[in-house]
Amino acid sequence: QAKQMGRNGYCFFTPELQGMTARTLKLETDIQRALDHDEFLLHYQPQVCIATGRLSGFEALLRWQHPEFGMISPAEFIPIAERSGQIVRIGEWVARTAAIRLRGWLDAGLEPVKMAVNLSVPQLQQARLFETMETILDETGLAPELLELEVTESMLMEDPEKSVAALRRLSQYGVKVAIDDFGTGYSSLAYLKRLPVNYLKIDREFIRDIPADPDDATIARSIISLGHSLGLQIIAEGVETQAQLEFLRVEGCDHMQGFLFSRPLPEAEMFDLLVGMGCLKQDDAG
Ligand code: C2E
Ligand code: MG
Ligand code: MG
Ligand code: MG
Repeated sequence: QAKQMGRNGYCFFTPELQGMTARTLKLETDIQRALDHDEFLLHYQPQVCIATGRLSGFEALLRWQHPEFGMISPAEFIPIAERSGQIVRIGEWVARTAAIRLRGWLDAGLEPVKMAVNLSVPQLQQARLFETMETILDETGLAPELLELEVTESMLMEDPEKSVAALRRLSQYGVKVAIDDFGTGYSSLAYLKRLPVNYLKIDREFIRDIPADPDDATIARSIISLGHSLGLQIIAEGVETQAQLEFLRVEGCDHMQGFLFSRPLPEAEMFDLLVGMGCLKQDDAG
């Protein structure tokens, strides 16, 4: 911006920019210790089957309770953790913590539903990814079918051979794979045929303005029919209104996730919600 350009064309930092830089640098250092200091936590957002209204799974979403800055969005710190390589350790913590949580809910009487975790490129490129997930499933005694890994189209474009191989091995083991933010990535659809994918998650961007926006309605409808013709199930992200849900129901979308049903919740609140939904055995609790 012109305002930030000095007389000689040099770019000077405004106070906000300086502040951002200092904060980023601080987060970069602090993230090294955050795991050991128990500053990370997970929120869980339910996914619901549109046809039956039944719970079909959860997505685990990472939060950082920073001692100084308070709750920090993953959109801010995950890119930092990816750059520093810390995301590999953090991602393993996420998968293990989410698996332990699902184990606990199953033990409390929840019918088997999936737990989805988000992956990052450095995890997908790691030779140990399969062994890591296998160990976590062994430790928690979860069927591999109950673990779902969310990857994005752009992640798969990064190193297609390596990521496809990693996902194929996990998929053969039974783990489910979802393409997150579908429709926003820069990719060819050809990869969908080669990939062991089970779910497409329609990005929130295309859900926001349906049913009013005809272009978004067309895109959402096309993703649903494309996915179904490839034998995939469709999850709509960011469903906030009844009108959006009605549209998705009419179009045959399989699952929904969004504030309309529930925001992502800390584990204790999710437990209460599950009790309220009658999903947990009450006789054990009393
Ligand atoms: P995502 O995987 O696409 O997750 C969906 C995001 O949409 C979440 O944001 C969720 O809180 C938000 N959301 C859900 N329903 C609604 C709704 O109805 N309306 C609106 N406006 N938003 C909704 P969040 O939790 O801030 O996460 C942002 C992104 O950070 C995630 O996008 C994911 O890409 C990344 N992320 C989160 N946790 C992890 C993690 O453990 N590992 C990695 N690698 N990335 C993660
Ligand atoms: Mg996701
Ligand atoms: Mg998404
Ligand atoms: Mg997203």
